[in-house]
Amino acid sequence: MADNLAKISEPLNPCGRRIIEVNPVNLYQIGWTVTWKNYHIDQPINKFIKIMNKAKWQAKWRTQNRTNKWLNKSIAEKTDWKTSWSLAHPSRITKAMTSKTNHRPRVFNFKVLNDKLPTKSRLYQRLPETYMDESCVICGRKEDSIHAITCADNNNTLLKTFITSLAQATSSRAAKKPTQKISVIFEKVLTSENWDIGNLLRRTIPHKLTKAVQGLVENTHKTLEALRIACDTLQEKAKISWKERCENFILWERSM
Ligand SMILES: [Zn+2]
Repeated sequence: MADNLAKISEPLNPCGRRIIEVNPVNLYQIGWTVTWKNYHIDQPINKFIKIMNKAKWQAKWRTQNRTNKWLNKSIAEKTDWKTSWSLAHPSRITKAMTSKTNHRPRVFNFKVLNDKLPTKSRLYQRLPETYMDESCVICGRKEDSIHAITCADNNNTLLKTFITSLAQATSSRAAKKPTQKISVIFEKVLTSENWDIGNLLRRTIPHKLTKAVQGLVENTHKTLEALRIACDTLQEKAKISWKERCENFILWERSM
């Protein structure tokens, strides 16, 4: 707060490093001050509690086994988390209005992100005597949420859908004409980052892709808009694949 008043901002005052420190002992007009682990809290309390809670829940999510299965150090560093979290939600979760069009994509997103679709792996965990193993009924590989969607996708159709949709959405918002084909630019970025379709289905977007879109549309809001369109188009295709997989799974269950 004192740094703000003195108009000292980042990078001279990076987060956690105070140039001006308030000595609470000298605050004679205030009867009490708030401390946390012997640190004087030099900011509004509700803002502090919000940040602390966010950090706590993010740490809990990050350290879960199901998250650690796919989220390695490299992906964690390359991911543009601000954009990715924003894309995970079709609207603010705290919004008072609820609707099926808002609720259903959110549920599907989080089931894919947290590997919660009722796949053979999950069914086997719950009913090992009935399902016997975790293998996909089509190809025999382990069936988790991402595999259930991508199993039949032999020609990387889902990846192409994402890139084409993002290229179209970016092109219609582009501030200037790009020097090369937009879809080729995005393809190169995803290849260089080693970004597979699983990451895109979980709506984790690499920094470099956000930057590539931003470089063309030159507007933060429009960048998010283009990425959201691509993610939503990918989700529509993913839902079709999941539906097909469920139909095949029912046939397999009946044949057993
Ligand atoms: Zn399979």
